[in-house]
Amino acid sequence: TPRVRIAPSPTGDPHVGTAYIGLINFLYARQGGGQFVLRIEDTDRTRFVPTSEQMIFDALHWLGLTWDEGPDVGGPYGPYRQSERTEIYREHAEILLNNGTAYRCFCTAEELEASRKAQMAAKQPPKYAGTCRHLTPEQIAANIAESKPFTIRMLVPEGSTTFRDELRGDIVIDHANVDDQVLMKSDGFPTYHLANVVDDHLMKITDVIRAEEWISSTPKHVLLYASFGWERPKFWHMPLLRNQDKSKISKRKNPVSLVYYRQAGFVPEAVINFLGLLGGGMPQEVVGVSEKFSLAEMLEKFSVPNISLGGPVFDLTKLKWLNSEYLRAMSLDDFYTALRATVLSDEYLKGVAELVQTRIETLGQFGDLTNFFFADNILPAQEVFLPKKKTLEETLAFAAEQLTVLEAADWTKEALEGALKALGEAHSWSVKENFMLLRAIVTGSTMSPPLLESMIVFGKARTLDRMRRFLD
Ligand code: ATP
Ligand code: GLU
Repeated sequence: TPRVRIAPSPTGDPHVGTAYIGLINFLYARQGGGQFVLRIEDTDRTRFVPTSEQMIFDALHWLGLTWDEGPDVGGPYGPYRQSERTEIYREHAEILLNNGTAYRCFCTAEELEASRKAQMAAKQPPKYAGTCRHLTPEQIAANIAESKPFTIRMLVPEGSTTFRDELRGDIVIDHANVDDQVLMKSDGFPTYHLANVVDDHLMKITDVIRAEEWISSTPKHVLLYASFGWERPKFWHMPLLRNQDKSKISKRKNPVSLVYYRQAGFVPEAVINFLGLLGGGMPQEVVGVSEKFSLAEMLEKFSVPNISLGGPVFDLTKLKWLNSEYLRAMSLDDFYTALRATVLSDEYLKGVAELVQTRIETLGQFGDLTNFFFADNILPAQEVFLPKKKTLEETLAFAAEQLTVLEAADWTKEALEGALKALGEAHSWSVKENFMLLRAIVTGSTMSPPLLESMIVFGKARTLDRMRRFLD
């Protein structure tokens, strides 16, 4: 019976790609009577976001995708968080050092950078030059005695790797295009490649079902399975979700955070239905009659092997239409309950109320100052706020900078204030101009309750979406 997994990295908001790949894994496991594992790949400490893991759990639960093993529910092959498994990776790297399929690399960051630059200048693809491949045992011992930091790299032999992709058939990749991948970093943490292969093996994963962008990594993984003497799983690479222009889905062109969809009032049934429509896994007999179907129907009829390779376009208009179908089908009571659970929740209303209590004369004026909290499409004309001495072009460029710093900011008043002020100083925008522009974009007006507090209540995902649409 199949054992499959998704292995998201907690680097930020949960991604629609994670839900899409999660859905396919979930269906495959359930249909085959097997297990669906959730593993957290948190070994890249530079991109680690502490709140991300819980957001991933919440988003998948919201969509109705449940897992059988994972960091929160446990299971026989845990721990399911890679940062708790570093000893396992160290032992396994040792095995590869001992059998000659990996080697210690003492090259410094500066040396690697110089070599990369030389390759770029010579128009060669950047690849490790292999300097440390043939160090003698004495040289290695001397370097270790000097406590020189080292990484562990896999030794990619000459030749090529062939593997079967279950949707594509055989794929051959020439090793000329495969780098001597770092497996263990000098900080003692493994890279994705080593940890992923070791865990998939130890967790008895039978089928690796993941996004197409990992195809180029697969030869490295196949070589690692061989180096350990392990049987490899089956590989299935799913076509990437695309923007309308066929580029890989990106937050500049589509909201990619599941948090956004939830906060903007998409219903989970519509989102999961929409994801199930992408890629052609539902038979034409079903889709031809109705594009509206439930997770239960997908469990009955979805076919993973039938997924087609044309890049599915993530069409937000279609998702909104589907969502409207679900809203329309609700009883008034259910519809009202849905509103009160999301865009009109007690918590949200109270947050908004707090911002206007000292700013209105009658309760009836509540809406005058707060309409932007309850609307989706308040987009002001791009000219709504232009500082006296700035052109429209400069203003839009600055707004794009605001978006970039806010994307990276923690959603607290102090962090927002600090990030915006630093940006204003760097570009000689006064605090007033800076905040006024942002106020116009986010609230649609140059008059509003306190801006940063408003953005916090409105939420990061929806605020950023509003800014992206303004700039679009
Ligand atoms: P970045 O844009 O920063 O490279 P990303 O868009 O790839 O990031 P990640 O957070 O790295 O986003 O991806 C989260 C998960 O979603 C990964 O498992 C990734 O394979 C998957 N994923 C990302 N983009 C797509 C896509 N267009 N279609 C399907 N899955 C995707
Ligand atoms: N951690 C990887 C990711 O973020 C896992 C990729 C895989 O499934 O192998 O998608």
